[in-house]
Amino acid sequence: MIVFDSVCKHYGTFQVLNNCSATINKGEIVVICGPSGSGKSTLIKCVNGLETFDSGQITVDGTRLHDPATHLPDLRRRIGMVFQGFELFQHLTVLQNVMIAQRVVLHRNKAEAHERAMLLLQRVGLADHAAKYPVALSGGQQQRVAIARALAIDPVAILFDEPTSALDPEMVAEVLAVMTELAQAGMTMMCVTHEMGFARQVANRVIFMDRGEFVDDLPAADFFDGRCSDRAGTFLKRIL
Ligand code: ADP
Ligand code: MG
Repeated sequence: MIVFDSVCKHYGTFQVLNNCSATINKGEIVVICGPSGSGKSTLIKCVNGLETFDSGQITVDGTRLHDPATHLPDLRRRIGMVFQGFELFQHLTVLQNVMIAQRVVLHRNKAEAHERAMLLLQRVGLADHAAKYPVALSGGQQQRVAIARALAIDPVAILFDEPTSALDPEMVAEVLAVMTELAQAGMTMMCVTHEMGFARQVANRVIFMDRGEFVDDLPAADFFDGRCSDRAGTFLKRIL
């Protein structure tokens, strides 16, 4: 579903992505972890064209990003994205947040978009909050709305960039529960997260990044059972 082939990117002389190659298959859950500044967000943003890269290729569901024939907006509407800071539209209700891309991007009619939005809000446990504005919700609830919004365009994959890092500890579990349900339903997911319990229980693979490199790309069980690199081992000791 997502293929990275020798992806390189520089900011000036600083190499933020160094020859990254990996394949994420349909239905796979891949956790990306690594120290702050190792290039995780840059990598994720490259997948949906929010960032460009210098060389190599990224292919999403058969579409090559570095191809003049590729229409980026068409590609973007097939990929869901969930950010650390939720990024909900504050002037829209919860329901409108989950309807807007369906209306504007997919041109669904109002009734159709409404029905789909309500189903998704039910799925993340927030149907009762549909008429509220984001400001009236907790951080965990806002992030669940953001996940419903990402799902509303029927994406082929969802990218998560530290979805629980901005949350109070008691709200982390409710967001991870929604992500776990998605994983079990067969969604293809790339998750930047330092929630190692989630990685161990839900991820198929863990990619450990350091200084722009994919240092480890291992089945989650191997990664956590001591078969990771020394660099990843040191990182794990620091965060666990
Ligand atoms: P991570 O998400 O792993 O913390 P990032 O992908 O955000 O890492 O950033 C990787 C490195 O690239 C950091 O050192 C950061 O300072 C640098 N960087 C990120 N964005 C830019 C930019 N627009 N211009 C210059 N340097 C950047
Ligand atoms: Mg980041």
